[in-house]
Amino acid sequence: MRLDLIDGFPAPLDGLTARDIRDVLPNPTLIEIEGERPEPLFVSTLLHGDETSSFRILQRLQAAYGEARPPRSLLILVGNVDAAAAGERFLDGQPDFNRIWSKGAGAHHAFAERVLRTAREKRIFASIDIHNNTGRNPVYGCVNVLRPADLQLAATFATVGVYYLNPSTTQSIAFSRLCPAVTLECGRSEEPEGIEAAWRLIETTLRIDSFDAAPPPPETLKLYETVARIIIDPDCSFSFDEADADADLVLCADLEDRNFVDLAEGVLWGRVVGGGMPIKAVDEHGRDLTASFFRLEGDAIIQAAPGAPSMITTSLNAIRRDCLGYLMRRA
Ligand SMILES: [Zn+2]
Repeated sequence: MRLDLIDGFPAPLDGLTARDIRDVLPNPTLIEIEGERPEPLFVSTLLHGDETSSFRILQRLQAAYGEARPPRSLLILVGNVDAAAAGERFLDGQPDFNRIWSKGAGAHHAFAERVLRTAREKRIFASIDIHNNTGRNPVYGCVNVLRPADLQLAATFATVGVYYLNPSTTQSIAFSRLCPAVTLECGRSEEPEGIEAAWRLIETTLRIDSFDAAPPPPETLKLYETVARIIIDPDCSFSFDEADADADLVLCADLEDRNFVDLAEGVLWGRVVGGGMPIKAVDEHGRDLTASFFRLEGDAIIQAAPGAPSMITTSLNAIRRDCLGYLMRRA
């Protein structure tokens, strides 16, 4: 698998969309831009081809530093250009480009290893990997190490953060072994708030000499960790519309608005028609935690312990393919 290395920005990206990326960058590419401070800021874009806020950041970086010298060097990864051209997360036959950053056989792991080796040789200062969600979420940064510098990156980006160690094969987990690292979840693709917050963080990080030795004050970052993944019984038909008479399960229409809202015990999630508990909470090892987090009261599904939902989506497709969302607690 090819990885192109270029010094300086490619032909202008202005006026293009992520779907046009291969007109300018036909292969995954590392772009090196020399700046005042030599240790580069690593910026990772388009690891998921349909998450296009990172393409907007790439355009902004080119507009800002195509001519002018940045205050710190940049090493920019443009990841899955084939999936971006198709508007997909990744293509059939490809792995997920944010699950290839561990030891493994095959061309994609070798690609990730080359990127990591280059980053290590350049003695990168920090790593920022840019993503989007499908559901309505506030912007939030994910960290994998509770170091002051990583927390500072997350807190500079947003007031909500997530700490995770699973899945262990992501870009930010691999890069957190080299330098402070953060994954930015910029809301849904193209939402201006997420793009602005990501840009602010990049501009700030390019201008600092070093990270603070002390962690950011706790009131500046609400940090969560995942307790359970919420899935819907595959045999159960469901809907977010109370008028849907055919659904076995009608979920509350405003569920998506509760992402990263701390909920008390007793909150309604939905109503079941046929009886039984059609939603399940499982931890990262696949253990069933449903009884700890949900109970049935008549036909009502009630949250049985405090916790904040996250990444709840109303996309029926995403729920069937992946999950309804997650339950979080304060880390
Ligand atoms: Zn992503």
